[in-house]
Amino acid sequence: MTRIAFFGLGNMGLPMARNLAAAGFAVVGYDLAERARRRAAEAGLAVADEPTRALEGAEVAITMLPAGPQVREAYLGDGGILDNAREGALLADCSTIDVDTAREVHRAAAAAGFTMVDAPVSGGVAGAEAATLTFMVGGHDEAFARAKPILERMGRAVIHAGGPGTGQAAKICNNMMLGIQMISVCEAFALAERLGLAHEKLFEIASRASGQCWSLTSYCPVPGPVPQAPSNRDYRPGFTAAMMLKDLRLAQETAARVQAATPLGAEAAQLYQLFVAAGNEGLDFSAIIKMIRGDRDR
Ligand code: NAD
Repeated sequence: MTRIAFFGLGNMGLPMARNLAAAGFAVVGYDLAERARRRAAEAGLAVADEPTRALEGAEVAITMLPAGPQVREAYLGDGGILDNAREGALLADCSTIDVDTAREVHRAAAAAGFTMVDAPVSGGVAGAEAATLTFMVGGHDEAFARAKPILERMGRAVIHAGGPGTGQAAKICNNMMLGIQMISVCEAFALAERLGLAHEKLFEIASRASGQCWSLTSYCPVPGPVPQAPSNRDYRPGFTAAMMLKDLRLAQETAARVQAATPLGAEAAQLYQLFVAAGNEGLDFSAIIKMIRGDRDR
C-alpha cells in the first residue's frame, strides 16, 4: 500500500488527506498547529506530531500550505522534506504560491534526486470534500505520470500544464480572470438595479447572451438566480475575499517581474484590497458587489 505523508491539514488539506485515506492509501498527516492535528485525528486520520515521523517510509509527500514562505520552509528548511524524505520519493505541492518559489523548490528537489510537481487546485473546500478538485500540474512528464493516479483520488480533472512552475502560472492566470470577471458581473447587476431591470431578467438574458460566464451562471453575486451561490447565505464563503486578494497579488507580482501588462488585473487587485481593508476579508469574494453598489452596511 502506497504510504503518503500529507503536510497542512487546514480547510483544504484535511478533506484532501481524508479522501486519499478513503481511497486506500496509507496516509499520515502533519500540521504545525496542534489544533489542526487534533481536528484531523478526531476526523479519523493518522497524525504524526513531528514532520520526520510523517515522512518515515513515505513514497509520496504532499503539501497544502498557506503561501510561498511556508512551502519554502517545509521543503528547504532545516529538518525539512528534502532532508528527510525517502530516496526517490514523489513530492507534490498543492498550495497556491508564487511561480518563483515553486521553481526554486523544484530545482532543489531535482538536485536532491526527487521527482516533483506543483499542483495547485481550483474548486474550494466543497471540491476538496467531494473530491472534485481541478489540479493544474507543472512538472516533467515522468513526474506527472507518477502524480496523476494519486491526484485523481482528490479531484475530477488533473491537467498537465507543462514544465515546473506552470501549474502555479495556470492558477494565477485563471484566478486573475475570475477576479476581473466577478467585478464585471457585479457592476452589471448594480447598473441594472439603477435602470429598473430585475435581477432575474438580467440573469435570464445574459446567461444566454454574450455576457455569459462562470461568475454569472455558477456563482451569481445577487441572491436568487443560482441557489447554491454564497449570495443566498449572506455571502458566507465559498472563496473568501482575502483568498482572492492573495491570488490577485501573486498575479500582479509575477506580471511586474515579467513585464506583462495586466491593467484590469491591477484594478481588480486594488478593488479587492479596498474591500478587504474595510473588514470584509472573511466574506465570500462575490460580496464585493456591496462595495460596488455603494451599500452602507458593508
Ligand atoms: P488553511 O490556512 O486552512 O490551512 C493551511 C494549514 O497549513 C494550516 O493548518 C497551517 O497550520 C498549516 N501549516 C503552515 N505551515 C506548515 C508547515 N510548515 N508544516 C505543516 N503545516 C503547516 O489554508 P487552506 O484554505 O487549506 O488553503 C491551503 C492552500 O490552498 C493555500 O495556498 C490556498 O491559497 C489554496 N487554496 C485554497 C482554497 C480555499 O477555498 N480555501 C481554494 C483553492 C486553493
